[in-house]
Amino acid sequence: MGIIKTKSKGLLIVISGPTAAGKGTICKKLVERNTNLWVSTSMTTREPRGTEQNGVEYFFVTTEEFEKKIEEDGFLEYAKVHYGRYYGTPKDIIFDKLDEGIDVILEIDIQGALKVQEKVPEALFIFIVPPTMEILKERLRNRGTENEEQMLERFKTAYKEINEVTKYNYVVVNDFVETATAKVEAIITAEKCRVDRIEEVDLDSKEETIHESLVDLNQEK
Ligand code: 5GP
Repeated sequence: MGIIKTKSKGLLIVISGPTAAGKGTICKKLVERNTNLWVSTSMTTREPRGTEQNGVEYFFVTTEEFEKKIEEDGFLEYAKVHYGRYYGTPKDIIFDKLDEGIDVILEIDIQGALKVQEKVPEALFIFIVPPTMEILKERLRNRGTENEEQMLERFKTAYKEINEVTKYNYVVVNDFVETATAKVEAIITAEKCRVDRIEEVDLDSKEETIHESLVDLNQEK
């Protein structure tokens, strides 16, 4: 063992931010570059969008299936996000990954993040924002996956969510995706160097080390 032994458990990283802030793209890039990162796949009752596939972007389930899992205490957190649709983080796999020493990313909304804060206070909370509300509107329109009414709903939610930024540990403005990803990576790296992640400091006895150095010096003469 070296001098410092840090916790072998992985770090739980919660990433939130308003719709179309680019959280998904950032998470994808993070995982491409870091083999020790794993992004949790949430369960939802919303309809798949565009090319989305079951088990890739989400596990798409019925309301009955979702509510059964709630009863079984199968979620770390869950919330009704858009249009009363459920979104939730399946629990067991998260703790298995953390125990294996893998860092886990949850890309969830603010309600979910607050629940995780209660259950896992040592987790890292990062908020991603678009540079301006105008850009958010543009990104949402260009995505073209929501109708006018749904876009308005997402836009309203975005206003509410941005006001909650101070509940997070860090905020990253996603102006350029490469820069924003680098910032999130730097935050994760810094977090892993925090002294409260130290489990043990292992120093050889001072007298013994000094004595050995003196013997070495004498031999060199
Ligand atoms: P979308 O419908 O655009 O995929 O996601 C809508 C919102 O749901 C996003 O803000 C996303 O972060 C959030 N979300 C996705 N998965 C979960 C989850 O498991 N729990 C919670 N609380 N929110 C989630």
